[in-house]
Amino acid sequence: TLSDRLTSVLQNLRGKGRLSEADIDATAREIRVALLEADVALPVVRTFIAKVKERAKGAEVSQALNPAQQVVKIVNEELVGILGGETRRLNLAKNPPTVIMLAGLQGAGKTTLAGKLARWLKAQGHTPMLVACDLQRPNAVTQLQVVGQRAGVPVFAPEPGNGVGDPVDVARKGIEEAKRAQHDVVVVDTAGRLGVDEEMMRQAVDIRAAVQPDEVLFVVDAMIGQDAVNTATAFQDGVGFTGVVLTKLDGDARGGAALSVREVTGQPILFASNGEKLEDFDVFHPDRMASRILGMGDMLTLIEQAEQAFDADQAEAAAVKMGSGQLTLEDFLEQMLALRKMGPIANLLGMLPGAGQMKDQLANLDEKHLDRVQAIIRGMTPAERDDPKIINASRRLRIANGSGVRVSDVNDLVNRFFEARKMMSQMAGRFGLPGGGKNNR
Ligand code: GDP
Ligand code: MG
Repeated sequence: TLSDRLTSVLQNLRGKGRLSEADIDATAREIRVALLEADVALPVVRTFIAKVKERAKGAEVSQALNPAQQVVKIVNEELVGILGGETRRLNLAKNPPTVIMLAGLQGAGKTTLAGKLARWLKAQGHTPMLVACDLQRPNAVTQLQVVGQRAGVPVFAPEPGNGVGDPVDVARKGIEEAKRAQHDVVVVDTAGRLGVDEEMMRQAVDIRAAVQPDEVLFVVDAMIGQDAVNTATAFQDGVGFTGVVLTKLDGDARGGAALSVREVTGQPILFASNGEKLEDFDVFHPDRMASRILGMGDMLTLIEQAEQAFDADQAEAAAVKMGSGQLTLEDFLEQMLALRKMGPIANLLGMLPGAGQMKDQLANLDEKHLDRVQAIIRGMTPAERDDPKIINASRRLRIANGSGVRVSDVNDLVNRFFEARKMMSQMAGRFGLPGGGKNNR
C-alpha cells in the first residue's frame, strides 16, 4: 500500500541531516508508484510529484522535524491543497428555491444522497423538497419516496398509473410545485446508467436546461478508482457540473478518485457519503481525505506533535531564563530591537483610537528614551551585559561617557532592569512557571 511504501522510503531518509536532491528524487519516484497503486490517475500523479519536488527543494531544513517527517508534511500539504484547501459551501440562490440537480452513474448513490441532503438541509432550517426524475428504473420513484419519508421531507413524483412520464416534464412541474408550496431548496434526482451513454446524457442536459439549477452535483462512487477520470470527464463535457460528491467512503477505497476528479475537472468536492443510513454524511474535509490517501494519520499526528513540542521548548527556554532571574541585558537589547523592527512605538500607539493627540509627545519621549537605552547597552562590554551586577561606579561612568548620556541615566537603566528581572522571577514563581523563584537578586 501507499502507506507501507512511504513508510519504507521514509525510513531510508530518517537520520540524515538534510534533504539532498538525490533523497528527494528517490522519494518522489516511490511516492509516484505508490499514488498510482492508490488509483490516482497518471497525469494527476505527475502534477502532484512536480509540486512536491519543487517545494522539497526550496524548503528550509526544519529544526523541529527530521527529513522524513518534513517530506511527509510537504506531501500532505500539497494533497490538501489539490483537494481544495478549505471546504466550499453549497451555493444557495438569492431568490429561492435553490435548485440542486444530481447526476452520475447508476448505483453511484444519487437517490440515497437526495435523502441525506434533505435531512442535512432540514437540520439547518431549510424546507427542502425532492423531485423524482428517474423514471427509468421501476423502483426508482418508490426508493426516493422512502428516503424522503425517512428524512421527513415531501417528494414530488409523477402520478402513478399514467404510464411512463417524461422526466423533463416532471422536473419542470416539480420546481413549480416547490415555488407554490414555498420550499426553499429543491433536490432533483435523475436517472443514471451503468456506463456513460448518449441518451442518458441528453436527458440530463434537458433536465438541466429545464430547471436551471444553482448546483449540479456529480455523484461518484469512491470505489470506482481509475475510471473516475473518464466518468468525470464524460459528465463534465456532457452535462457539466458545479460540484462533486464522493460516496461509499465507508468502504476501503483509498481515495485516489477524489484526487483525480478534483484535479481533472477543477470542480470542488462538496460532500462525502460514508454509509447507507441518512446520517452517514458530512461536508467534505480535504485534510481528512489527504490523510486517508496517504494512509499516514499516525505519522501526521506525530509531525504535529513534534512541531508543537519544538515551539514549546523554545518558549520554555525563554521562560526558564526569565523565571530564574538569568535574563541578561543582552536578551533585553535583543527583545527591544525586535520590538523596534515593528516600527516606531509612536506609530503603533497611533493606531489606537484616541491616541492621535499624544502622538507628537510620544514620538519625542519614547523614541528618544529607547534610543538612549539602546546606546547605553551598546556601550557596555559583553561581560557587563551578561552579568549587570558587575557594573560598579567606575564602569557606570565609563559607560555614560562612552554612550553620551549622564551617569544617572545608566543608574536608572540598570536599576530598572534589576527591578524588572526580579518582578518576572516572582511572577514566574507565583504562576508556577518553569524556573520560577530561583536565583532572585
Ligand atoms: P443511484 O443509482 O445513483 O441513485 O444510487 P443509490 O442511491 O440507489 O445507491 C446504490 C446503492 O448504494 C444502494 O444500495 C445504497 O444503499 C448504496 N449506497 C449509497 N451511498 C452509499 C454509501 O455512502 N455507502 C454505502 N456503503 N452504500 C451506499
Ligand atoms: Mg437512483
